[in-house]
Amino acid sequence: MGHHFTFNTQAKCSHTEARAGRFETPHGSVETPIFMPVGTLATVKTLTPAQLRSTGAQMVLANTYHLHLQPGERIVAKAGGLHEFMQWTGPMLTDSGGFQVFSLSSLRTIAEKGVTFRSPRDGRTIELTPEKSIQIQHALGADVIMAFDECPPYPATWEEVELATARTYRWLERCIAVHDPRDRALFGIVQGGVYPDLRAEAARSLAKLDLPGYAIGGVSVGEPPELIEKIVKVTAPHLPADKPRYLMGVGTPREMVRAIAAGVDLFDCVIPTRWARHGAVLVGGDRWNIKNARFTEDFTPLDGDCPCYTCQNFSRAYLNHLWRSREILVYTLLSIHNITELMRFTRRIREAIAGDRFAEEFASWLAAAPS
Ligand SMILES: [Zn+2]
Repeated sequence: MGHHFTFNTQAKCSHTEARAGRFETPHGSVETPIFMPVGTLATVKTLTPAQLRSTGAQMVLANTYHLHLQPGERIVAKAGGLHEFMQWTGPMLTDSGGFQVFSLSSLRTIAEKGVTFRSPRDGRTIELTPEKSIQIQHALGADVIMAFDECPPYPATWEEVELATARTYRWLERCIAVHDPRDRALFGIVQGGVYPDLRAEAARSLAKLDLPGYAIGGVSVGEPPELIEKIVKVTAPHLPADKPRYLMGVGTPREMVRAIAAGVDLFDCVIPTRWARHGAVLVGGDRWNIKNARFTEDFTPLDGDCPCYTCQNFSRAYLNHLWRSREILVYTLLSIHNITELMRFTRRIREAIAGDRFAEEFASWLAAAPS
């Protein structure tokens, strides 16, 4: 296993499973728990790498499915890999493409060998197999790469999910067989839908493979938010304590707090940038819309306590004006703020865990959710 990838727990909450850790990668260390911004097409939408760095972002995610379709991994490899191509010097992670194949593509055929689907870009037929996904991810060159998994839809029967979970395990073995662990870490993905027995069994099987990290996949596929927490609670205890745990596609503050309390370390979600493109901003845990008329003459910053470039320099009135004028700068300014909010949020959680104040400080977040 690559000696670059180590995970150390630095503090543990005495009331929950929350932990503060450090994950070392060849491109630097990641202090967990942490939110990872999503740079789907080798760019976190509307932000330069310097702006992204200013939000406190440490590790950034890119999507294999999208990059395979455009520009293709050959071009990225020729450029020297993702870090060089997009000029992000920090740690990076690529997903396997599995989630998008299952959620975005029509006309797909799933077989034991892999998945065949029609490219939404030009209609050509593309085959994605475990081996191909690993080859593509090696060419893209992120620090952490993900196993190719079958993500069952929600809802799905126990029998359907059992088949997908078993296949995910066989596909993981094929991923491991072609993976070169020298410069990058391969994380396995636990599937199992909303079924506790399947989740626990999958987690136990994967744990035996001694991988450098583990992900909980197949969530955020339409199930109610309270089920996410349930899934994490039945899965995380079966994963090795000395390896990072990554909850894929989850990233609202409430979902993160609850998953962290169950022992999760890494998160990714498109909401901060997607919200920005809809004029939505995250302020003190609430979602506001900047186009609202109440902001037209409001010359205060979005959040007076926020250290981000947007809040340090611009008023709500100015952002409201940019939005109403369809000025594209607004997407950048709102994205800087939203990502900074989530980075600050996970930073605050990390500090609370380090001081063993997590359960107390986040007691109201951890209390039963209002229906
Ligand atoms: Zn801000």
